Amino acid sequence: MRYQKLAELYEKLSSTTKRLEKIEILSSFLKELPEEDKDVLYLLLGDIYPEYDEKKIGISNQLAIKAISKATGIPNAKIIQEWKFSGDLGEVSKKLTKNKKQVTLQSHVLTINKVLENLRKLPDLVGKGTIGKKLSLITELLTSATPLEALYLIRTLIGDLRIGLKESTIRESISSAFFNKDKEASKIIQEAIDKTNDISAVFEIAKEGGLKELKKIPLVVGKPIKVMLAQKVSSIKEGFKALGENVGIEYKYDGFRLIIHKKEKEIKLFTRRLENVTLQFPEVVEYIREYVKGDSFILDTEAVGFDKETKEYKPFQEISQRIKRKYNIEKLQKKLPIEIQVFDIIYYNGKSQLKEPFKKRTTLIKKIVKNHPKKIVYAKQIITNNEKKAEEFYKKSLEDNQEGIMMKNLDAVYQPGSRVGHMLKIKPEERDFDLVITGAEYGTGKRSGWLSSFILSCRDKDKFLEIGKVGTGITEKVGSGKVTFEELTRKIKPLTIKEKDRQVTIKPKIVVTITYQEIQKSQNYSSGFALRFPRFTTLRPDRNTKDITTLSEVKIDYGKQKRN
Ligand code: ATP
Repeated sequence: MRYQKLAELYEKLSSTTKRLEKIEILSSFLKELPEEDKDVLYLLLGDIYPEYDEKKIGISNQLAIKAISKATGIPNAKIIQEWKFSGDLGEVSKKLTKNKKQVTLQSHVLTINKVLENLRKLPDLVGKGTIGKKLSLITELLTSATPLEALYLIRTLIGDLRIGLKESTIRESISSAFFNKDKEASKIIQEAIDKTNDISAVFEIAKEGGLKELKKIPLVVGKPIKVMLAQKVSSIKEGFKALGENVGIEYKYDGFRLIIHKKEKEIKLFTRRLENVTLQFPEVVEYIREYVKGDSFILDTEAVGFDKETKEYKPFQEISQRIKRKYNIEKLQKKLPIEIQVFDIIYYNGKSQLKEPFKKRTTLIKKIVKNHPKKIVYAKQIITNNEKKAEEFYKKSLEDNQEGIMMKNLDAVYQPGSRVGHMLKIKPEERDFDLVITGAEYGTGKRSGWLSSFILSCRDKDKFLEIGKVGTGITEKVGSGKVTFEELTRKIKPLTIKEKDRQVTIKPKIVVTITYQEIQKSQNYSSGFALRFPRFTTLRPDRNTKDITTLSEVKIDYGKQKRN
């Protein structure tokens, strides 16, 4: 097929912003599209390979300008000037090609295959002379291009297609072309896309084999898949209401998602965004080899950072650099160790686990993963229909520096790529108050000698009224960036007004920001309110006690919350 035909399609698609019209246009195109040109579907998304493939075109504006210059004989400076005027290098290329064609009238033979062939050579070029080679591959295409082709070639090269086409529109167009826009068909196509991340393969199977074959598309170990995502609820009660009685609850670990594939000897690690990060985590490859049984499997996990000395979990931000870092890995691995928490299994020894109930998948995980804390473990899970127990577990997760909890229906399947209603997340709302510390209590165990629980107060005119206690969000460890118990103890001691047993009452001087999930009425504190799940965020030396949250602001927020 000629590239011109695709360029005309791009043009038609960008002539409307209406999704239904785009679907109409694209589905007629797909009906006629010969199988040998199926990779046009990658081009429609601005790609040259399936989504999971890491090879991308990646051409800079600068190189594109040079190529236009070489193909048209017009100096760079003139092209840059035109570009400043129109803001679209594609349009510049189109205009200059048109002017040139009137003079030279070259024969035109640009096919889709030729375009893909040249574009696919680009990411493979490395080392000396790369720029020159890239330039000639692009110039070769541009010199044979019609003005319209030049427009879309350049836009494709610089990754700015501007046709307003999303994957979901392609899905609906395939559905409309081959299955009469059947609702069920859209779902099956989407599932096939999520399993394969290969839109061209899905098109081919839809066209040739229909829904029956689409349903049969297998999971391929070693090829990244899109993970299942959670919906959010704001309370445990709401969670139970949505999920029923048969609920497994796990910590929502504050790390990053890591999907682990093993096929015989080969182990690959992928992020949620389908990036291959195997090289960055050599220790994980080793843990999998040593502590997980099975010839082939796909595990869904969360990688969680911990402090190498205290072994306490660390927030994601502190380990995030490990995902991108590709050098000095060994050093970083020692400095920022991670633990793998396995919470789901998608494939095991030749068999997809997608349709198995979650409970069975969890049992399988326990069978094959040999727990080695601070290396690899299966996610701790409680099974309960008791709200109180769930609340306690939630509280514990926050105390353990995690984000909250996940509530999962034990009978549910695994749906790749979907934000499902049978896996729910609950984490504290990011609401915060500035409050003042008016008292504290000495800790026990490893916190003895330090004040470890702090009484917080809001202001009511010139009085301070207690509203809760906080112990979460403060650390024992110096140097983590968070406030330490030691530092707070040091600040508080000179402010002591009264000391009785382990309790101290202090002058209201230290202002802090506290996040919390909810305000409740309470007899326990003089304000008449209590904060649920308060967490220490930061000291506010810049704030005066006059600036802190007032009782009437608390009342307003409580009222708002009730209305919601
Ligand atoms: P968030 O910003 O809340 O993490 P998200 O969009 O990244 O949201 P969601 O699917 O909505 O992801 O929330 C669940 C995320 O929590 C997962 O992507 C995963 O990385 C993480 N997670 C931590 N612990 C678990 C667990 N036990 N089960 C499932 N996911 C978990």
